[in-house]
Amino acid sequence: MALLSIEDLTVTFSTPDGDVNAVNGVGFDVDAGETLAIVGESGSGKSQTAFAMMGLLAKNGRSTGRAMFDGKDLLTMKQGALNKIRSQDIAMIFQDPMTSLNPYMRISDQMAEVLQLHKGLGKSAAVKEAAQMLDAVKIPDARNRITMYPHEFSGGMRQRIMIAMSLLCQPRLLIADEPTTALDVTVQAQIMELFGEIRDEFGTAVILITHDLGVVAGFCDRTLVMYGGQVMEEAPTDALFADPSHPYTSGLLKAVPRLDRDDGALATIAGEPPDMSRLPSGCPFSPRCAQVMDHCVTQRPALETFDAGARRRACHLPASEVA
Ligand code: SF4
Repeated sequence: MALLSIEDLTVTFSTPDGDVNAVNGVGFDVDAGETLAIVGESGSGKSQTAFAMMGLLAKNGRSTGRAMFDGKDLLTMKQGALNKIRSQDIAMIFQDPMTSLNPYMRISDQMAEVLQLHKGLGKSAAVKEAAQMLDAVKIPDARNRITMYPHEFSGGMRQRIMIAMSLLCQPRLLIADEPTTALDVTVQAQIMELFGEIRDEFGTAVILITHDLGVVAGFCDRTLVMYGGQVMEEAPTDALFADPSHPYTSGLLKAVPRLDRDDGALATIAGEPPDMSRLPSGCPFSPRCAQVMDHCVTQRPALETFDAGARRRACHLPASEVA
C-alpha cells in the first residue's frame, strides 16, 4: 500500500466572480522512502494540491476527493487528528524559510521547543538533539551557531535550518514547496543533494514541488507534470527526461539549460499560463500547444496508463509523435 494516495482531488475557490477550479481530479501515489517531483508553471495547481491534503487551503477554498495517508483520509479527518499527523508524520517546508522561522527567537529555542512539545525532552537534551540535526544538514559549527538568530544565517543556511526543523520529529513524508527557488544554483544543488541524503538516511518520502524541471533530474524517482490543475504526464524521472510523452513536458524540457548540449538560445513555451476561471473545455494546454489538433480544443484527453503501467499521459497525440 502506498504511504500517500491522492484520489480524484479537486480544489475550488469561491471568488466574487464565481468559483475557480484550481485542481481538477488529480490522483497519484507516493510510496515510503520515494521521491516524487510535482512540476508545473505557477497556477498549475501543484501547491494547492499539497495545501489541500495538509488542510491549509485559504478560507475561501474547499476540496473533494480523498487523500489517504497510511490508510486514513486527511481530507475528512478531525482537526485534532490532522494536527497530530502534521506535527509528527508529515512536514512541509516552503520557499522562504523566514515565513516559518521566528526572527526574534534563537534557533536553539525554536528547535528545542519542537522537541520539548512532541518528544517531552528537557531543554538541554532538546538543544543537544537539535544541534545534532543541524550537523546532519551540514550547518558548520552547529553546536556554537545554534544560539544565533535566523538573520545571522545566509538564505541557503536558513533553508537547511528549516529542513532540520522539519526532520526533528522524523516525519515519514516531507513536502517541499519550491524549497530552492530563492537560492543561487550552487546552493540549490547542495540542498537537492541534502534531500537525497535525508531520503537515504531517514527513509523519508519526499514530495518536491517546483516550477523548474531542471532541479529534479538525478534526484527524484518519479515526476508528475501538472497544467491547468490536471495531471498531464507522470513517469520515472529518467524516462521523462529521455523521452517526454506530452507536448507540455517537452516544452518544459526544452526550456531547461543543459551542459551536455549546445543548441543555442533556450526555447520558451509561447503564451501565458491559463486563466483558471476560464479553462478550455478540451485540453487545458491547447491554446499554447504547438501540435494542437482540432479535437484537442473540444475534447479533454483522458489520463491513460502505458509502458506496462509505469507511465501516464493525457494527450490525444500518439506519444511517438510528440516533438
Ligand atoms: Fe497538444 Fe492536443 Fe496533446 Fe493537448 S491533447 S497537449 S493540445 S496535442
